[in-house]
Amino acid sequence: MIQINFKRLLVNNDRGIQSAGKLHALMIAVIQSMMLEDERFAAATYAAALDKVAIVAITNLAGTIVYANEQFEKLSKYSRGELIGQNHRILNSGHHPRSFFLEMYRTIRGRKIWRGEIKNRAKDGSFYWVDTWIVPLIDSGGTITGYISIRTEITSRKALEGQLSSLNVALSHQHELISHLTHHDALTGLRNFVNADDEAWEWESDQRASVLFIDVDKLKAVNDTLGHATGDALLKKVAERLLTCAPPNASVFRFGGDEFVIILRGDAASHDAKSAAEAILQAMAEPISLESSELPVSVSIGIAERSSGRVDANRLLTEADLALQAAKSGGRNCYRIFDPVMEVELRERRQLESDLARACANGEIVVEYQPIIDAQGGHVVVCEALARWNHPTRGRMQPAEFIPLAEETGLIRQLSACVLRQACADAMAWPSQIKVAVNLSTQQCQAGYLIDSVVKALRESGLPASRLELEVTETLFIGNGDECAAMLRRVHEMGVTIALDDFGTGYSSLSYLRRLPVDVLKIDRTFVAELATSEKARAVVEAICRLADRLGMSTVIEGIETVEQANIARQVGVERMQGFLFGRPVAAAALRL
Ligand code: C2E
Ligand code: CA
Ligand code: CA
Repeated sequence: MIQINFKRLLVNNDRGIQSAGKLHALMIAVIQSMMLEDERFAAATYAAALDKVAIVAITNLAGTIVYANEQFEKLSKYSRGELIGQNHRILNSGHHPRSFFLEMYRTIRGRKIWRGEIKNRAKDGSFYWVDTWIVPLIDSGGTITGYISIRTEITSRKALEGQLSSLNVALSHQHELISHLTHHDALTGLRNFVNADDEAWEWESDQRASVLFIDVDKLKAVNDTLGHATGDALLKKVAERLLTCAPPNASVFRFGGDEFVIILRGDAASHDAKSAAEAILQAMAEPISLESSELPVSVSIGIAERSSGRVDANRLLTEADLALQAAKSGGRNCYRIFDPVMEVELRERRQLESDLARACANGEIVVEYQPIIDAQGGHVVVCEALARWNHPTRGRMQPAEFIPLAEETGLIRQLSACVLRQACADAMAWPSQIKVAVNLSTQQCQAGYLIDSVVKALRESGLPASRLELEVTETLFIGNGDECAAMLRRVHEMGVTIALDDFGTGYSSLSYLRRLPVDVLKIDRTFVAELATSEKARAVVEAICRLADRLGMSTVIEGIETVEQANIARQVGVERMQGFLFGRPVAAAALRL
C-alpha cells in the first residue's frame, strides 16, 4: 500500500510536480500510511521524496533556519552553511508589506498552516517567487517546536501573470479608447448619435421626453466659400454653444454633418425643450469668432414631444425632423414644434415634387411675358419671361409656389431649360428690336450647364444671342462666384446681355459690378413704394442711376404701379420701367407689341 503511494509520488515527481497542493495531499497520504506501516522507513522515504520535489526548510521557534535542503540552496544561491543559523529575513525582497509577514506569523503561531506566494531575493540579488506552505511542528504535548516550510518555485508563472495583467491594462485602455471613439464624435467631442441609440432612447415607458433636432443654417455655403477647415471650426463652436445652452438633464449628440440632437427627459421636458430652443437661438445670434474672422451663424430647430407612452423613439426623431423641415421652410433661424399637419404638408410636397418632374414634359409649364418699356419713349424694349405652372388638379400656380421647390430638388435645371426654350421660340415672333429677358436661378451656373442650355435654346429657335437677356441675382455668386463669373463672361461673349435683378437688396456688393459683365441694373421694387414719400429712397435710386451711367450700364426699375412713381423714376434718371402700370405678365399670344 505504502509502496504504491510512493510510486505514485515518484512518478509525479518525474513529470515534475509544481504544485504544493499536490504535495500536501501526498504528505497526508504518507502520514496516514506511516501510521499503518513502519514509521522510520516511511519518514525517511517521505523526506527523500519531498526533498526531490520541493524547497524545504525547518526553522525553530525563533525563526532561525535549522534545516535547508538542496533545492533551497539551488534557488537561493546560498550554501546550506550560509543558510543555517540565519533568519528567513536574509531572503526578504522588500516586495511585501510588513503586514504580510505579521499575518503569516499570526497564522502559524495560531497553529494553523499558512499558505501564500512570496517574492524572495537570492544571494546574487535576483528575485524569485515561491508558493509557500508553512506548517507548525507540534509535539505530542501540543507545543509548537518549530516550523517546516515547503515551497515550489513559481517565478515563471508570476512573470507570465505580470505580463498578462499589463496586457490586460493595455487592452482595457485600448478598449476604452475604441469605445470612446465609437461613441464620441471626433470633431466636436460630443456623443455620437448613431452609435448611441440604445442609451439615447433609454427611458421608462411612462417618462416624458423631448427631442430637439438642430441644423446649422447654410453650413454648405461656409464650406464652399471659406473651406472645410473653417466649416469644421464653426461646427466645433456651435457644439460648444449647444452644450452651454442645454439644460443639465439634457443629452447632447452630434447626429452627423451639420445636425445635432438634444434629448430631454422628465416631466418638464416639454417646457425645457422650448426654453432650450430659445436659449440656443439667442446664443447663436452672437457671431462666432474664428482665428481670422467673425462668422454669423444661425440654426433651425425642430422639436418633438413624447407624453407618456405615446410614441416610440424613432417616431419621435422623425417628428422632430419634420418640425425641423418646417423651421427651415419657415425662413430658418427659428424653431418649430411638431404638428401632425406637417406630415400632411410633407406628403403634399413630395407629391408636388413628382408632379413637377413631369410638368415640363407634359407641357404644363407655360411662360407669360411682362413688358419693360423705355422711360422716355414709352415703347417696349424687353419682355420678361415669367414661368407659370398649369397644375392638373391645383390649377395655375405662381413661381413663388414652385420655383423654391424646383431649386431645392434640382428640378430647376429642367424647368429653366424649358422656359428658356419657350422664351426664345416666342421671341422669334416679336419685332426684332424687342429682347426677351429670362430669369436665371442660383443653381444654374453649374459647370457647363448654363452655356449648353443657352446655346441649345438659341440654336433651336434661331433667335440671335443679342436678343436674349439673362436676369441674375447676387445670390448666384455666393459660394461659386468665380465659376459663375467665368460662365457669365462666356455667355456675354456670345452676345447675350446680363441684367442684375433685385438690385439694391441683399449684399449689393459693388465688387460684383467690376467683376461681372453686367449690362443692366434692375432696381428692386422695394424702392418704388418709397419713391413718392421718401427723399432718401429717391436719392438712392438717383445714385444707382448715376453709378450705372458711369459704368456704362443701363437701369430698369421694376414694380411701377402708379403714374406718380413713373414720373419720379423718370426724373431721377431711370432709363427703363416695368410694372403693372405698363402691363401685367400675359401669355405670348396676348402681348401687344
Ligand atoms: P422677379 O424676377 O423679380 O419678377 C418680377 C415679379 O414681380 C413677377 O412676379 C411679376 O409678376 C411681379 N411684378 C411685376 N410688376 C409688378 C408690379 O407692378 N407690382 C407688383 N406687386 N408686382 C409686380 P412673378 O411672376 O410672381 O415672379 C416672381 C419671381 O419668380 C420672379 O421675380 C423671379 O425671381 C421668379 N421667376 C419667375 N419665373 C422664373 C423662371 O422662369 N425662372 C426662375 N429661375 N425664376 C423665375
Ligand atoms: Ca426678374
Ligand atoms: Ca426682380
